[in-house]
Amino acid sequence: MPVSKEELEARRIPSQQRAAYVNQMVAQAFAPHQNTFQQRVQAVVSGNSSSKTKMYKLQQIMSDVRVFSAPYSACKEGCSNCCHMRVLISQTEANAIGEAIGVKAAQLPLGTPVKEEDDFGRNTPCTFLSADKCSIYANRPVQCRNYINIDVDPLLCSYENWDLAKKRDPASVGIPMLGAAPIMSAYQMVSNGKAEVYNDIRKFFPGGI
Ligand code: SF4
Repeated sequence: MPVSKEELEARRIPSQQRAAYVNQMVAQAFAPHQNTFQQRVQAVVSGNSSSKTKMYKLQQIMSDVRVFSAPYSACKEGCSNCCHMRVLISQTEANAIGEAIGVKAAQLPLGTPVKEEDDFGRNTPCTFLSADKCSIYANRPVQCRNYINIDVDPLLCSYENWDLAKKRDPASVGIPMLGAAPIMSAYQMVSNGKAEVYNDIRKFFPGGI
């Protein structure tokens, strides 16, 4: 059933209230573990292992962090709308994923154009999406591990809401999510900072698996 503007509007305030509540609950649950996680992130960045190994460690840290938000997640098996969005990853992570799954990642030259987020939609599935499931789930990118809707259900991930957002229609309602700044800044460091190629996952793996 297509989602109507009225349904979206009715969710606007409750989703904001829910986001504030969930952020508080997750922060409380996470607080006793914060130092340990900070040390893990720092150890990855300053360690001597290869960038590929560092990337695997960051992927795992992101999954471990997101365990704290799992009880509040609207993401359910069978919903793959976010797998139709742009999935921006670095060449370093693409190489690491490629090695893990046995598919060589394309080596993109610096300056390779990146499609706008608005170019993505219901007809642009990730090349690793198969029957609405991730075919490389254990090796999925950091960004996919981080993308968790903390609303009560996936209504705001609907394509109708997404279409409105692409048209800059004020009827669209933002998806409540949690931040992950320390891990993402470590990601950039492991990915060689600004000298790195970033692009959509489809560009690195046009044929999927
Ligand atoms: S890698 Fe997997 S989880 Fe990430 S967008 Fe592709 S299919 Fe979805």
